[in-house]
Amino acid sequence: MKFLLINPPVYDFACYDLWMRPLGLLRLATMLEKMGDVFYLDCMDRGEEGVSEREDEFGCGKFYKEEVEKPECLKGISRPYFRYGLKKGRVIEILDTFPTPDFVFITTGMTYWYPGVEEMVQMLRRRYPGIPIYAGGIYATLLPEHAKQRGVNGVFVGEDYQLLEKFLREITGKEVRITKIPFPRLEFLKRRDSFVLETSQGCPFRCAYCASYLLHPTFSTRSVEEVMEELDYFQDIGVKHIALYDDAFLFRPETHALPILKEIEKRNYNFTFHTPNGLHARFLNEEIAYLLKKTGFITVRLSLETSRKDLQEKTGSKVKNEELERAVKNLQKAGYLPSQIDVYLMLGLPGSEKEDLRESILYVNSLGCRVILANFSPIPGTPLWRELEEEGIVKEKMDPLWHNNTIFPLRLGWSLQEIREWRLWVKELNGRV
Ligand code: SF4
Repeated sequence: MKFLLINPPVYDFACYDLWMRPLGLLRLATMLEKMGDVFYLDCMDRGEEGVSEREDEFGCGKFYKEEVEKPECLKGISRPYFRYGLKKGRVIEILDTFPTPDFVFITTGMTYWYPGVEEMVQMLRRRYPGIPIYAGGIYATLLPEHAKQRGVNGVFVGEDYQLLEKFLREITGKEVRITKIPFPRLEFLKRRDSFVLETSQGCPFRCAYCASYLLHPTFSTRSVEEVMEELDYFQDIGVKHIALYDDAFLFRPETHALPILKEIEKRNYNFTFHTPNGLHARFLNEEIAYLLKKTGFITVRLSLETSRKDLQEKTGSKVKNEELERAVKNLQKAGYLPSQIDVYLMLGLPGSEKEDLRESILYVNSLGCRVILANFSPIPGTPLWRELEEEGIVKEKMDPLWHNNTIFPLRLGWSLQEIREWRLWVKELNGRV
């Protein structure tokens, strides 16, 4: 049996490789290798010819891009729109080296990246008429019906490996046993110096804007042994920089993060670690801060979203200002400069005013930390989506292209020029800390 696995190109106004890796697809590759031959095409692998434009010391960087015509519903937006990743001609050259597959699996990311999925499905339909194509991943899970309308034969919703076992049995007629979360098959990547690690799935919190619960309805952790085995494998294959993909790495630290960090310390790995998803400031005690520093955590990001207390409570109470302040102090004691600590704030958080954002920015700046502004984008199925639906700001049938965080704030009264100015102001403040 032959399987073709695909990570499609991205269509967006902006796209930067901040440790963006198809973890689920590479885990699927490990599983499918037990059932047959796997062929892998990754349009976003910056190790592929012509995909990397520029990169930093920790494996992040720019993708090759081509300006493309905007889809009809985005025509009025005064920003160029691009296709990112492997050139179409190179995609065909790579596919030419593969035999005709029996099944194709496409991973999906953001809901508003569906044009890349559509492009691949159309190309594959012409090339392999009649071959079944399945989609999985974030977009396929959040909007399965929309994804099916892109021309795939079916979608796999979620990331439950027992369900995946059943799904694969049903479509292939073959048995595959999954006793633990498979390691990602990094040998398929052209560039392996940086990758991602997921030590837990889901999050016990229920923040009003977050999709964690929809993607992973229950919170689960992997054992320390399993995580260490995976890190040993990463080391053997040449990974140097690792981004934590966990949503709630620090939740109940005594039974999860602490034993993992202590074991990493003991093993003396040479990795640098990064936390682009943001850490829970509430759980960042002195011991954790010390271990983060000791084990090579370079990019330390904390999630705050807003410093307005009533909004913090209303959106899920994941953190309070005092908890952020304590976390920053603990990190400082451990040897981090405040300017090495990044704090996420949300631009356009529904229910907040521009003045609230100004105060939040000045508050984080007063702690000496750097602000990372993240534009709010609505995720179907979340409580904030439902609120916005009641207000008529989003609609069930709205084109997912409008979920894009670059442009969604326009629906909340922001202009692109204003967003640019706020970002410049934040850049200036960050430059002074
Ligand atoms: S704490 Fe973070 S990951 Fe968990 S629900 Fe809230 S935003 Fe999502």
